[in-house]
Amino acid sequence: MNASRQPHAVVIGSGFGGLAAAIRLGARGYRVTVLERLDRPGGRAYVHKQDGFSFDAGPTLVTAPFLFEELWTLCGRKMEDDVKLVPLDPFYRIVFDDGSHFDCSGDPARMRAEVARLSPGDVEGYEAFYRASEARYSFGFEVLGNQPFSNFTDMMKALPKLAALRSDRSVWKAACQHVKDERLRILLSFHPLFIGGNPLSVTSVYILISYLEREFGVHFAMGGTGALVQGLAKLIEGHGNRIRTNVTVDEITVSNGRATGVRLENGELIPADIVVSNADIGWTYSQLLRNTKRKRWTDRKVDALDYSMGVFVWYFGTNRRYDDLAHHTVLMGPRYEGLLKDIFKNKVLSEDFSLYLHRPTATDPSLAPEGCDTFYALSPVPHLDADVDWTEMAEPYRQAIEARLEERLMPGLSQSIVSSRVTHPLEFAERLLSWRGAAFGPEPLLTQSAWFRTHNKSEDVDGLYFVGAGTHPGAGMPGVLASAKILDQVLV
Ligand SMILES: Cc1cc2nc3c(=O)[nH]c(=O)nc-3n(C[C@H](O)[C@H](O)[C@H](O)COP(=O)(O)OP(=O)(O)OC[C@H]3O[C@@H](n4cnc5c(N)ncnc54)[C@H](O)[C@@H]3O)c2cc1C
Repeated sequence: MNASRQPHAVVIGSGFGGLAAAIRLGARGYRVTVLERLDRPGGRAYVHKQDGFSFDAGPTLVTAPFLFEELWTLCGRKMEDDVKLVPLDPFYRIVFDDGSHFDCSGDPARMRAEVARLSPGDVEGYEAFYRASEARYSFGFEVLGNQPFSNFTDMMKALPKLAALRSDRSVWKAACQHVKDERLRILLSFHPLFIGGNPLSVTSVYILISYLEREFGVHFAMGGTGALVQGLAKLIEGHGNRIRTNVTVDEITVSNGRATGVRLENGELIPADIVVSNADIGWTYSQLLRNTKRKRWTDRKVDALDYSMGVFVWYFGTNRRYDDLAHHTVLMGPRYEGLLKDIFKNKVLSEDFSLYLHRPTATDPSLAPEGCDTFYALSPVPHLDADVDWTEMAEPYRQAIEARLEERLMPGLSQSIVSSRVTHPLEFAERLLSWRGAAFGPEPLLTQSAWFRTHNKSEDVDGLYFVGAGTHPGAGMPGVLASAKILDQVLV
């Protein structure tokens, strides 16, 4: 088709949601321009290259790989020609505060044996939990997560099944209902933290993650998650479309209630037939549409949402390898419920913490200089509503993490560090324009999900659409890839 006759779509932001949307729009015949404020695409999946180490900034566990494969298929290509995904076994090791551990894998017999090793009386309960997880997957992931919730009638149709599945219960309650051992309760309930949710309050629909992991595996992209970003960027360019980096959208231009394009910070106007925002939902409505009258997503409503937690991440390289450490380790702290309350409700930065430790060089040694290891340690922390000055607190907090890792998992760590950088909620707010510095957009509470979440087709402005963590179905790579799939359904 003559390029000038193709409808033009502007996508604001190049997170996984924005990249997937650009591919789907390209496949529908749109001319697409992706606008990204950072110097490289990826958003939360940005890659920091430093001192010979390659640090994936955010997502590391690839679940539901079929959602990526679909994008390649849509472009008439095979994903394996561009990106090699390797299944991990075990998926991850959980180390509890009492020193015991649990290796999570996709092998039902090994999982049963692990449960029996910690608490023989809980094997049956664990099996029942897993069946409950499968039922939530079938409805939550395959049905709810694949359809738009543009009308309240869609929500009404889903309510009976949501009620039958006791979606009003939290993930924590669902775990407690099935197993008695405190460690197993933690193990079966901590997954919502992967998408910014408090296990004590997010809907038990999210226990579906256990089934998702076992059924489709936990994978790692060789070369790091950045390899997926590069692969998707290549698909966009394959359609003849562009990703413009180092450009920040200052405003979505609207005329007679319809989006007409965007204005960049430098004043440049880019007209468009449709605008798709992959930028933070709070930022899009209250900043990029600051001059547009809005009926549903007013500033007050955006402000009243409950936002997910923030994260503190310490990226570091060592001049030695820690071959005893798995690719993914979760090091639980002394408190679980108390810590979650501090993060999500009390909004205070506790002295104790739980850590997720990523060691990608366990699978792909090319991500560090020879004989070295690449790591990141992630600690869930409250978002910027907490009274924490991260410009002051970042270094002492990093030191506390270093001390704990050295004591529990990594002897000699302090002598081995040769590269270091941190990120925290303040950086999320300033660099990625995340509302309140939250790492995962609005929290995935039942009252902020499906129809209650910001719709994929704007309720306030025609020709404006949303993809990414803040819209339906929610955060996580599977969630944001699904949001782009739903965009395909709601485009008119
Ligand atoms: C530390 C961390 C670890 C995670 N681990 C996992 C994991 O292991 N597995 C998993 O599935 N998920 C994980 N997640 C969640 C997952 O990474 C995110 O939910 C997902 O990547 C978000 O994608 P998105 O499409 O919402 O876009 P984002 O990644 O949020 O990208 C949005 C982009 O928009 C750009 N932008 C914003 N405003 C503007 C503007 N005005 N103009 C131009 N550009 C703009 C930003 O710079 C950014 O690049 C993790 C998240 C974090 C933070």
